[in-house]
Amino acid sequence: LTERLQKAFSGLRRKGKVSESDVRDAMREIRLALLEADVNFNVVKDFVKTVRTKAVGKEVLDSLTPSQQIIKIVHDELVKVMGESAVPLNTAPHIPTIIMMVGLQGAGKTTTAGKLASRLIKQEKARPLMIAADVYRPAAVDQLVTIGQQLSVPVFEMGTDHDPVEIVRQGLAQAEANKNDYVIIDTAGRLEIDEQLMNELSRIQELAHPNEILLVVDAMTGQVATQVAEGFNKQLDLTGVVLTKLDGDTRGGAALSIRAVTGKPIKFVGQGEKLDQLDIFYPDRMADRILGMGDMMTLIEKAQTDYDAKQAEDMAQKIRENSFDFNDFVEQMSQLENMGPLDDLMKMVPGMANNPALKNVKMDPKDIDHLKAIVYSMTPAEREDPELLNPSRRRRIAAGSGRNVQEVNRMIKQFKQSREMMQKMSKGNFAGMENLFGS
Ligand code: GDP
Ligand code: MG
Repeated sequence: LTERLQKAFSGLRRKGKVSESDVRDAMREIRLALLEADVNFNVVKDFVKTVRTKAVGKEVLDSLTPSQQIIKIVHDELVKVMGESAVPLNTAPHIPTIIMMVGLQGAGKTTTAGKLASRLIKQEKARPLMIAADVYRPAAVDQLVTIGQQLSVPVFEMGTDHDPVEIVRQGLAQAEANKNDYVIIDTAGRLEIDEQLMNELSRIQELAHPNEILLVVDAMTGQVATQVAEGFNKQLDLTGVVLTKLDGDTRGGAALSIRAVTGKPIKFVGQGEKLDQLDIFYPDRMADRILGMGDMMTLIEKAQTDYDAKQAEDMAQKIRENSFDFNDFVEQMSQLENMGPLDDLMKMVPGMANNPALKNVKMDPKDIDHLKAIVYSMTPAEREDPELLNPSRRRRIAAGSGRNVQEVNRMIKQFKQSREMMQKMSKGNFAGMENLFGS
């Protein structure tokens, strides 16, 4: 997407309100990007409609271009649709909390059951019991038993010759007797949703009344994931979704579709085959991923919160008029401090991102404090007019700021050099940038 968007948006540098044509152009690209990320077609259609309405006429923040503004609206809307913040596991008022895993064959139910157990042990020293209720393949029971051994978690199993509902009933009785605080029920899957499986799962649901019924979905299955989620959601009281295999190269568009279609929160994401590779689902990170533009969003956020373009423009004006004084100097320093590293800041300036002069720009926060102390010890008149600073005034300032006279002299010299440099820069000469704020 990044490439696509950059192409579509290059040339858009106008300020003011977001116009309909800005939105039309941007939305065409965003629609394609979402489809590329495997978001369901209908979900994309609705989403684009919502965003279009929100974007037209919106004031463009001073520090953003209309296109960046639209991306931000899209991003925020993605986050909103996916549920704003991470949703924790439901817990039962009395132990045990019962978690039931459901999903198609190969989605990652058994693995995720183990991952959840592992997570609960680490986080709350839980004592979970896992129940092997997938009776269609002996290997399925063995797989859960092996995972149980790895984690030292007990697994309740009765082989493959019993009704899964009966297995769950006895498993729950054992958990009761052993005072396990969590029960995780691993169930069977099929290659496709079928009546028989759904009946079985419904019967387990009726018996166990799970606090969580987690639908496990393979993110790599893209569009199919949406239909699967819709099917399971119709027949079972799902409480949440786990999206697995996000360590693959999928964009994760399924996250958006599933949430939109089922209304159920995605609670965890699987990031690998190992048992510790289960993470909490964060909608904002997923939005970045779907748009394929983590860096860009960070930059936009940064620009929005920290960087007042108007202020920067005033500063540039002052530099051109050579009326840049110590007050401006301090203000600029403070702004730089809020922004973080100077090189990051400068890269946001159009045309500066790849400027080789920026390579060695670094600034020590302690130096900034010293500079500020010196300026604060000046009188208002001195701050506005550096020419007033004769030797006796400099001595007074040194004493007042707790710095020595050499330092004051050096700072004034630096200030004058900076001012000169900035003037040159404002005329388009960037050479010597690295000397600007260095000592
Ligand atoms: P089940 O049929 O739903 O129980 O699925 P399994 O738990 O047996 O998982 C099927 C396959 O997917 C196994 O090879 C797992 O190791 C693998 N798997 C599960 N979750 C993930 C994940 O998050 N990332 C990756 N890379 N593989 C996973
Ligand atoms: Mg399984």
